[in-house]
Amino acid sequence: MNLSFGRLTTFGLVFGLMSTIVASTVAHRVEAQDIMPAGRTAVEIKDGVYPATYFPNTEILGADEMRITALGTGMPNQTKAAVSISFFVELGNGDKFLFDIGTGSTGNLFSLRPDFSKIDKVFFSHLHVDHVGDFMGLHVGGWLSGRYTPLRIFGPSGATPELGTKYYVESMQKAYAWDLQTRAGALPDAGAKLDVTEFDYMQENEVVYDENGVTIRSWPAIHSLDGSVSYSLEWNGLKYVFGGDTYPNSWYVKYAKGADIASHEAFLPPKALAEYFGWSLKQATYVSTRIHTEPAAFGKVMSAVGPRMALGYHSVLSPENYQAILEGVRSTYDGPLTLSRDLQVINLTKDNLITREVSVDDYALPPSVGQAYIDAPRSEEKSPSDKVNAGKWGGYTPPAMPD
Ligand SMILES: [Zn+2]
Ligand SMILES: [Zn+2]
Repeated sequence: MNLSFGRLTTFGLVFGLMSTIVASTVAHRVEAQDIMPAGRTAVEIKDGVYPATYFPNTEILGADEMRITALGTGMPNQTKAAVSISFFVELGNGDKFLFDIGTGSTGNLFSLRPDFSKIDKVFFSHLHVDHVGDFMGLHVGGWLSGRYTPLRIFGPSGATPELGTKYYVESMQKAYAWDLQTRAGALPDAGAKLDVTEFDYMQENEVVYDENGVTIRSWPAIHSLDGSVSYSLEWNGLKYVFGGDTYPNSWYVKYAKGADIASHEAFLPPKALAEYFGWSLKQATYVSTRIHTEPAAFGKVMSAVGPRMALGYHSVLSPENYQAILEGVRSTYDGPLTLSRDLQVINLTKDNLITREVSVDDYALPPSVGQAYIDAPRSEEKSPSDKVNAGKWGGYTPPAMPD
């Protein structure tokens, strides 16, 4: 048993935690450096040789390169190390995409200090809060930190209109109407706007987004109710697949084929899930093997898909959970594997595939806004009513406003 665990652990380390580097020639593109923290300079990566750790904003993404950062890989009940699901995809053409924005994930997004003027697209796999719970934080936080255009949301319909993405977004917007009204005027007007694209959850590998050389398709997943989907993003000959929560499904096996990175849930196996929640083995078995995909089933799916890298997520990878998941996956799949943790990053080109940890500051400040944000049109600033303002205390006089 110990020997077997040792072999599995080594295998997992080799393919999961260490880096796979193949030398390559990568064309490079110089990005704007105005969001760089003081003291840091972005450098080109030469000959596929990357620093051991990724410090955000210190590497120039190659023109042919894709960077995928795990912002959240955990469960609905978060831990400090594993918040709910979100993946951030950056392309060498400057485009940026979010897949899911689960509860707690915006903290990790902000810790990267990205250029929020470009973070204007999020794709929902389904409407569980561990996949969309930080939607408000993305909308308002991004608006405060540089986005001066509408936030675009792409997501599936449901079995009825009130179970679809459009209903979710419009209802959320009503729920925090007070917040939005307080900021209107102080912040660019267009940044408050939401632009929803709801598509048929049953569509099979149909295009939901096709701009600037980037094609995103969706297909159904099988999870709790109708209305969970998976996505593929194809650009520049590279294919990233983001799996929505699901029972192993034939659409994924069919349409994830050819993926460079195939991400898919690798949920806790029944016994570990029972211990995690304190559930009965019966309930844990139902959730792990009927609503989700247990590790051995994940392995079977990946053996059928055969990606360059299989990426499993949707667990808190404590040492014992990690061992249980790895053992399950390795019983059915022996290919390249990453069991993903929060703030892991993958750099991908046709020749390179490297997995590293991201190093961020606990007190990283939000990125500065750009000139276009400062110049963007604003309506009138809001103020409390006269009857409330009448209660201002005379014991304090604010300083004069600067010119
Ligand atoms: Zn779910
Ligand atoms: Zn989930």
